[in-house]
Amino acid sequence: MDQSVGRIPGIEMDLQAALDRQRAAFDSTPRWTAPQRQDRLKRLEQLVRQHQDAIVDSIGADFGNRSRVETIMSEVLPAIAACAHARRHLAGWMRPERRAVGMNFRPATNRIEYQPVGVVGVVSPWNYPIFLTIGPLVDILAAGNRALIKPSELTPATGALLARMLGEAFPPDEVLVVQGDVSVGRAFTALPFDHLIFTGSTNVGREVMRAAAENLVPVTLELGGKSPVIVAEDYDTARAARSVAVGKFFNAGQTCIAPDYALVPDDRAETFARGVLQAAEAMFPAINGNADYTAIISDRHHQRLDELVTEAEEAGATVLRHRDKPTGNLRHFAPTVVLDPPLDGRLMRDEIFGPVLPVVRTTGTDAAIAFVNKRPRPLALYAYTGNAQTERTILDRTISGGVTINSTLVHCAQEDMPFGGIGPSGIGAYHGREGFYRFSHARAVHKPGFFSGFEYLRPPHGAKTKFMLRTLGIRSP
Ligand code: NAD
Repeated sequence: MDQSVGRIPGIEMDLQAALDRQRAAFDSTPRWTAPQRQDRLKRLEQLVRQHQDAIVDSIGADFGNRSRVETIMSEVLPAIAACAHARRHLAGWMRPERRAVGMNFRPATNRIEYQPVGVVGVVSPWNYPIFLTIGPLVDILAAGNRALIKPSELTPATGALLARMLGEAFPPDEVLVVQGDVSVGRAFTALPFDHLIFTGSTNVGREVMRAAAENLVPVTLELGGKSPVIVAEDYDTARAARSVAVGKFFNAGQTCIAPDYALVPDDRAETFARGVLQAAEAMFPAINGNADYTAIISDRHHQRLDELVTEAEEAGATVLRHRDKPTGNLRHFAPTVVLDPPLDGRLMRDEIFGPVLPVVRTTGTDAAIAFVNKRPRPLALYAYTGNAQTERTILDRTISGGVTINSTLVHCAQEDMPFGGIGPSGIGAYHGREGFYRFSHARAVHKPGFFSGFEYLRPPHGAKTKFMLRTLGIRSP
């Protein structure tokens, strides 16, 4: 590794040395007991509680404007809930699991012991910069590991806050934050971690997996993509529209599991599209000066959203815009609904990651399912139906990381459910119990009893072997 890359500001140590130090501490310290892990999780929870205002302010500064309530709902509350859940359950998760012993090996015992893997690298994105850093850290600490963390360069104030906060509560050989841009990210992901969890875009995920492959580092990739909404024929259109609007415009659409586009039966598509915009206007009567409406993270992303909508409009789509046109110098992008987008345009090819909802007409639920299945497997899927049969059909015939039925986003906030994608939307899931398993090594421990058939069957092979094989129901060779 180029030692000049990725120096940690304020600490005279390069990335490899930081990793070596954590690994040496891991190797020389007895494994953390349940109370020791609980203590670390308690510290983490207290940090989030104590720094609540600083968290809200720093994310606000990084976004230009981030709804303060959204920051509490999506960063502070879930981080606290994850700490509390893991604290409550980790002693049970840590308990060795007895497993059955096959006839041929009896008497013996089999068990699985969940071991910490060592040092885990965490690369986090900008869109939920606290929760997508603390969330993985909860599971990493619950599993008894140490962590090096690289937050996004697009949220520098929050990155600095994370470094300060975590530095207050953890020594650098347990948890250390490394700040820097993409070049630091590249050097970071090339380190020989014991596990690497990356949350970010699918394209960068490919690069990260390639870098990790050099050292055969196991990866968890939490990626993005286009999460569809299927509105079935039976469901109340206005109700679906109001519900989708809540999830779509949360954090101004900058959510990995935001409903990306909606598939709506032909005869209701326009009502649905207008309903979504109406709901947006009810939630955000004004855009300019509205502290509840989150801004777009950067000029580049703002420009990209502009281009996606303009391209669709020029190709003949109907664009429904919020009545208040943003004029201030904040990077606000008003809620926008695009009816009948061209399916080969960027709006329907790229992950939108902003407050723009394309509405695609379908001939019904079967056609919607076929539409979803022709595209890469999504991170989330949202189905609106009151019919149990339709719900079953959608669940059986589609694949996605997770699903919320008749609402959006909230499957991700369930402590006792795995969160992750599938294929291009991610590899491996975490949160709660699955997070503990994700960052643990399930080690198989076998212990023979007073008699070992394997050793009894040793050479020279004669009558004893024949007898033994006959007992097992096998002819001698
Ligand atoms: P990004 O992929 O651009 O960056 C994520 C992180 O990777 C940042 O810390 C960045 O510095 C680092 N990075 C960038 N290039 C790198 C490289 N070549 N090698 C190593 N590290 C590199 O993603 P983003 O723009 O910060 O976040 C938005 C994306 O993240 C969206 O696609 C969204 O769907 C996805 N996302 C997924 C989840 C999830 O849980 N599945 C959650 C939030 C966001």
